Amino acid sequence: MNLTKQTIDQVDLRNKRVLIRVDFNVPLDDTGEISDDSRIRAALPTINRAIDEDAVVILCSHLGRPKGTTKPALSLAPVAKRLHRLLNKPVIFVNDCIGPSVENAVKQAKSGDVILLENLRFHPGEEKNDEQFSSQLASFADIYINEAFGTAHRSHASTVGITKYVKNAAAGFLMKREVEALEGTVENPVRPFVAILGGAKVSGKIGVIKNLTGKVDKVIIGGGMAFTFIKALGFEIGKSLVENDMLDLAKQTLEQAMAQKIKFYLPVDCVVADSLEPDAETKIVTVQEIPPGWYGMDIGPASVRLFGEAVQNAKTILWNGPMGVFERDAFSRGTFALAHSVANAYAKTIVGGGDTALAVHRAGETESMAFISTGGGAALQLLEGKHMPGLAALPDSPY
Ligand code: AMP
Repeated sequence: MNLTKQTIDQVDLRNKRVLIRVDFNVPLDDTGEISDDSRIRAALPTINRAIDEDAVVILCSHLGRPKGTTKPALSLAPVAKRLHRLLNKPVIFVNDCIGPSVENAVKQAKSGDVILLENLRFHPGEEKNDEQFSSQLASFADIYINEAFGTAHRSHASTVGITKYVKNAAAGFLMKREVEALEGTVENPVRPFVAILGGAKVSGKIGVIKNLTGKVDKVIIGGGMAFTFIKALGFEIGKSLVENDMLDLAKQTLEQAMAQKIKFYLPVDCVVADSLEPDAETKIVTVQEIPPGWYGMDIGPASVRLFGEAVQNAKTILWNGPMGVFERDAFSRGTFALAHSVANAYAKTIVGGGDTALAVHRAGETESMAFISTGGGAALQLLEGKHMPGLAALPDSPY
């Protein structure tokens, strides 16, 4: 499936001022160091294309949630340093994203120069999709490229407002790859098509489950959200994570899946803990025997085998959400074991960003996946079949 929007390879960048909205919202550790630079690396083909076309390359992004004020800890300065190393080329860092300092930097820049602007969200106009802020950003550019898939589900000045004020706009290579990988997989899967959904909450993913239920052959549910389904079936779940207002919806989803002859897998056993403290006692029990007062923290070994077998004959696998509290060693085995099963299946494997990407990385299976999305919330919204404002605002492809 092809993206129907104009893409970077369909516009002439030569010697132009090209403003690229990237997603450099990278994780930082306690010392302010970048702990994972995949989002920067993922934008390199688009940045390099603009450099190769002798454009003046102006990059803008948000980082974290400064909420419209300047927060030095969320400066993009460390990203400029990392980008310098990755591009093997100096990066001019400007400590604002609008105003005279940016105007001067753009005026003085030569063809092929790369400028990185400071965090867009230091200005309240960014998240408000403010007209004036949008037009100020647009004033630096002859062409605008949206490469920020991770924020394409938001209507912000740098993703939506700006498109009204620029002469020409297009999607970058990463944006194209993301949309084609996620949407293309759901619309046109090679079967059997298996969706694996996990993570904390049913409410965050019910839209995806509903949208996928008509399209997949199998659904596997794990993680905290499984306990809402298990409770909906009438079992005791102790103090496991549950959304009581989702019980009816969970039951309906199970019934709908049965009626549509979709194979629906829930954990058959789990690792439970007697408290949430690091020294908690843990044990493995079947889901029929979760003791009152205990917490379900991971899927158990029988579920690992069951899910492993269920994915074995898959030709397409879409995975979003960990099977347990994988951040803690004691509850990471289910997620990591499933990562190995998914990697070993002879299937096209698509991983929907955020926590799942991190879990796959920790399991050492990143290289085995066909595609790992850089967008968490954005990937979910696309999988729900929902409107993506950042994408909708771009002009249609002329072809
Ligand atoms: P999400 O953002 O909805 O994909 O949720 C990811 C989070 O779900 C991770 O931080 C996990 O620790 C958490 N999670 C997974 N399984 C459980 C569980 N059984 N109980 C509580 N939290 C869980």
